[in-house]
Amino acid sequence: MAEFLQAVDDRKILHVDLDAFYAQVEMRDNPALKKVPLIIGRDPDLHHGHGVVATANYIARKAGVHSAMGSSEAKRLCPNAVFVAPDFDKYRSVSAQIHEVFAEFTDKVEPVALDEAYLDVSQSPMAGATLAAELRHRIWQETKLTCSVGVSYNKVLAKLGSEHHKPNGVTVIGADVALDFVAALPIKDFRGVGKKSQEKFEKLGIKTGADLRALSQDELRVHFGSFGDQLYWQARATHFGQVKDHRIRQSVGKEGTFEFPLHDRSAVLATFKDLATKVVANMEAKHLVGRTLNIKVRDDDFNTLTRSITQANPFQLNPDFLARKAQSIFDDLYPDDFAIRLLGLTFSNVSPQAFQSLSLFDYD
Ligand SMILES: [Mg+2]
Repeated sequence: MAEFLQAVDDRKILHVDLDAFYAQVEMRDNPALKKVPLIIGRDPDLHHGHGVVATANYIARKAGVHSAMGSSEAKRLCPNAVFVAPDFDKYRSVSAQIHEVFAEFTDKVEPVALDEAYLDVSQSPMAGATLAAELRHRIWQETKLTCSVGVSYNKVLAKLGSEHHKPNGVTVIGADVALDFVAALPIKDFRGVGKKSQEKFEKLGIKTGADLRALSQDELRVHFGSFGDQLYWQARATHFGQVKDHRIRQSVGKEGTFEFPLHDRSAVLATFKDLATKVVANMEAKHLVGRTLNIKVRDDDFNTLTRSITQANPFQLNPDFLARKAQSIFDDLYPDDFAIRLLGLTFSNVSPQAFQSLSLFDYD
């Protein structure tokens, strides 16, 4: 019998990560670059010593070059490196192709960067390893690019898996091996462990996952606060974070409550207008669009009603238009007299306006 709890979790999660994405795209498009140390970033000699390494191919990495390093330092480490300026339009269009492949496998996709995502494929009858192989094959067919995939029953382990055999590898971490895998990990590989916590661990004499697992939850809390709880569960290969399908789970909304109940329709319309203005500003700031508009109404007797409209295409982000939509739903709900204590207007089925909104700073 196991000496500690390992929670039962029968999900199938993939973490997919293209190998040295920007560099790989440039080498695909110009095969001569495959034979040289390649750095995606501005050449420091042409930019007064400025510039940052976006990514580098594996030849340059062997010389010690890595993402987010200053270009001047990279050049010092690897004087014969070839610098190519990043072409984000191209990377975004390749990313869109990759996401089309993801969609063949599941709708539950959580993008992390242009070239990196979590997929929840629990609904498939096929084994995770089979799905990973098929996914890699499809990405290769469509883009001629390689990726690394981690397969497990939670996101943390799937991510550790994709990092384990990089580049161009698959690592399956099933429940039978997960505790051993985690036990052997160096402490720096645990999620959330940065320089500061590494120093603390060093003082405590904690070097690996096995050492970490020997600490009680209380001890971890004393040293790391609430992060201690996360570490406690990571050491037990347990993590219940869901693959966040941005289109479904995220919502953006606003509510207004009234000390004195509203009785007339013009006040309701004015309130919807005010809420819609705020929600639109929030959506625009986040570069989001939404396909479902939700209205919430609470009356003086504390009855709460919600109604929604879903469209095939995103709603236009126009406060007057949205306020009138909300009002027509309201009029259907309350054709006669009313006394309203709360009104809410929320978008769900929210998605990015385009892939442009994804972070460009998660370079690998
Ligand atoms: Mg990558």
